[in-house]
Amino acid sequence: MIIVLRPGSSKETAEEILSRIEKMGCKPLYMPGTERVVLGAIGDERVLESLQLEGHPAVESVSPVLAPYKMVSRELHPHDSVIKIGADLEVGSNQFAVIAGPCAVESYDQLDRTAEVIQKQNVKCLRAGAFKPRTSPYSFQGLGGEGIALLSRVSKQRKLAVVTELVEIADIDLVTRTVDAIQIGTRNMQNFRLLEAVGDTDRPVILKRGMAATIKDLLLAAEYIVSRGNPNVILCERGIKTFEQVTRNTLDLSAVAYIKQRSHLPVIVDPSHGTGVRELVSPMTRAAAACGADGVMIEVHVNPSEALSDGKQSLYPDQFAALMRTLKPVLQAVGREL
Ligand code: PEP
Ligand code: MN
Repeated sequence: MIIVLRPGSSKETAEEILSRIEKMGCKPLYMPGTERVVLGAIGDERVLESLQLEGHPAVESVSPVLAPYKMVSRELHPHDSVIKIGADLEVGSNQFAVIAGPCAVESYDQLDRTAEVIQKQNVKCLRAGAFKPRTSPYSFQGLGGEGIALLSRVSKQRKLAVVTELVEIADIDLVTRTVDAIQIGTRNMQNFRLLEAVGDTDRPVILKRGMAATIKDLLLAAEYIVSRGNPNVILCERGIKTFEQVTRNTLDLSAVAYIKQRSHLPVIVDPSHGTGVRELVSPMTRAAAACGADGVMIEVHVNPSEALSDGKQSLYPDQFAALMRTLKPVLQAVGREL
């Protein structure tokens, strides 16, 4: 429920209404704007109706939140959320966020040399997996705790923010201590206990769309995290399963445009898993920028032909440099910068 207060209403009045909402077992939200104070109430709409807030002298209007996802919806929060990763990256701002790195941490040398490649292009955030959820149990599973230690070392030496995937709750303290943002992968988008666990932290979360999830499923998954008290969620479109065979997934850029209309959360695109084809990564990155995405997450490897995972979709260093050059005019056209 959205409760708009009359202009000039005092903070005490807002607090009185918020405490009545809380007493009914619902979640109160205080959202002061420049002209009006807006209050939110999340819970059983019938219980909230019994409060009869329309009759309160300080209340201008009361309306229900129509979307099934409440806290992530623009109805409750009309302005874009900006989420900071590390010291220099503001996702959802005018700055187009580029997060890049190898699919997996393989060794210090591989990670550091790849970090050097992206840093040369002024990228502020390195992403690499230490815990790899692979389709086959016989594929490289990641270096685990050793991979986290390598990420931490490279991050400190190079002053780069780092992102890595969290696969299970048991690793949450280790991962949270080390990284600037936690990635939740496609296979865990509806692992609700894991979502609640990251919702109990204050780390930014990059939530990837399930490969067979609808946009509504993705927004409801984000709602799990935000409703636990962590507002720092970045959504990631990474392609969905369709009947198409020539690409690994079908990158659904219409999801980006739709979500930007319905939700205040930033949306980034992963063109690497979204296509699975190296040659398609650069065009899809430019398309993501053109359709309003707030950033991209791209696989880059210092030597993709020797990569232990996803080499086929990883960019070579010179391809990444060329992409960063050709991205600039597209960003300029949509009023953003790198
Ligand atoms: C990844 O980002 O390395 C990854 C495994 O992605 P996804 O969960 O989208 O498959
Ligand atoms: Mn990968």
